[in-house]
Amino acid sequence: MKSKPLTRRDLSVLFLMVGMLAVPGLVSGAKIPKEKRVVLDWLSRPEVLEKYGRISDAIWSYAELGMQEFKSSALLADTLEAAGFTIERGAAGMPTCFVASYGTGKPVIGILGEFDALPMLSQKGRVPRQDPIIAGAPGHGCGHNTMCTAAAAAAVAVKRAMDEYHLPGTIKVFGSPAEETLISRPYMVRAGLFENVDAVIDNHSGSGFGTGYGKGGNAMYSVIFTFTGKTSHGASPWSARSALDAVEIMNVATNFLREHLFYTYRMHYVIMEGGEAPNVVPDRARVWYYVRNSDERVEEMYGKVLNCARAGALATGSELTDVRILSAIHQRNANKGLATMLQKNIELVGMPEWTEEEQEYARALQKELGKEVTGMPSEVGKLRGPGRTFVGGGSSDVGEVTRVAPTATLRFPGQVPGAIGHHWSVVASNYGTTAWKGLNAGAKVMAATAVDLLTRPKDLEKIRAEFEEYEKEHPYKSFLPEDAEAPLDLNRELMEKYRPRMEEFYLKIKKD
Ligand SMILES: [Zn+2]
Repeated sequence: MKSKPLTRRDLSVLFLMVGMLAVPGLVSGAKIPKEKRVVLDWLSRPEVLEKYGRISDAIWSYAELGMQEFKSSALLADTLEAAGFTIERGAAGMPTCFVASYGTGKPVIGILGEFDALPMLSQKGRVPRQDPIIAGAPGHGCGHNTMCTAAAAAAVAVKRAMDEYHLPGTIKVFGSPAEETLISRPYMVRAGLFENVDAVIDNHSGSGFGTGYGKGGNAMYSVIFTFTGKTSHGASPWSARSALDAVEIMNVATNFLREHLFYTYRMHYVIMEGGEAPNVVPDRARVWYYVRNSDERVEEMYGKVLNCARAGALATGSELTDVRILSAIHQRNANKGLATMLQKNIELVGMPEWTEEEQEYARALQKELGKEVTGMPSEVGKLRGPGRTFVGGGSSDVGEVTRVAPTATLRFPGQVPGAIGHHWSVVASNYGTTAWKGLNAGAKVMAATAVDLLTRPKDLEKIRAEFEEYEKEHPYKSFLPEDAEAPLDLNRELMEKYRPRMEEFYLKIKKD
């Protein structure tokens, strides 16, 4: 067949196709407004993908536990500051909390970002079998290393569109510590950080690419009960009062209580302190509870658990000397209008393309875990509504934000399907190129959605109207007692124990 010389039209089609390649996965023929094109093009640059990928890997290596995320928080805040954002460090009285802002006036669009790790999950990146870097050290078993990183990348992209097209409004990143212990958001709300914020985009890493709306997850109280007794020799304990006995009786009482709690509850505890040797009667013991139920039932349930603690003290003659509420949060209630906007941008951006090496790694991990061997995902998800029957479940302190501003959560890919949350397999898959591509795709959707919110006032108005209608019927009131304070010392000792050896490892991989 004889080939014809290229016409002008052919050339412009070719140019368009090259443009499409610059934004992998874009739906062909989709008409993209110029402001949105700016954010998508910038985030598609290989050097931008790599820059934020490396930030994510650094935070993965720091693996800092909640309230101790000094290096992770500083890296993100510094990156945003260098990009032209104004940073409020130590926001809401928490040293690792920050708010980064750019622009002036309305509308104010927020993006939430988390960066804390989980204890005991140390694992080498992209190794498809359990292989800790430092046994017992923390690891990123929920992908939070990718999340505030994606939020920062999205916000910097939005700033570029604001500059280029003189868009009025403000973009903010809320660097939110200690999500794994559900601590920062109720204090951030109480400090007024979300007053005047018109809409909030939240994000979480996962294996799929999707979003949803409606009520979900449980409200929760996180509480440490401290008992004080009287010590003596364990072999002549007549005059002693064991604080550990009080904890055990409290736990027996709460376990009997389970039968009479409405089935949407969840309740779990760990004994933090219960003596150090059997021959010394423990005069101090502490137990940490998570008490979870729906917004309507959680306060009453907490009251019953508190009674079990009192019963433990009464039965043993010890005292319940401290009841420390670390945090108390509401259920999530994601905004349908905002989730619909996110969904459209998910479909526009599309699932990243994975290399054969990435597919092979995913299949090896799935095989090791005994899961279906499907490799990395290829399709984006559909918009999800709330489940027909609420059966309770986990919690996120994002719930608190959903009650003070219209909020929806984007789930972006990067993790291997079948990898288990809060487990070494998720730590392994949140490092390296799959995580980089996933967070980059997530950043694109968040940036595109923020641009929509900045440029489509009618849509934002509808989103706000939906939010205000719900709030009128369910006025927000914090579950936090007025004198509650964020536990800034949480995880300090654990982190001090592991940090030096983790830093050694980080310096080594940086050198390699
Ligand atoms: Zn998480």
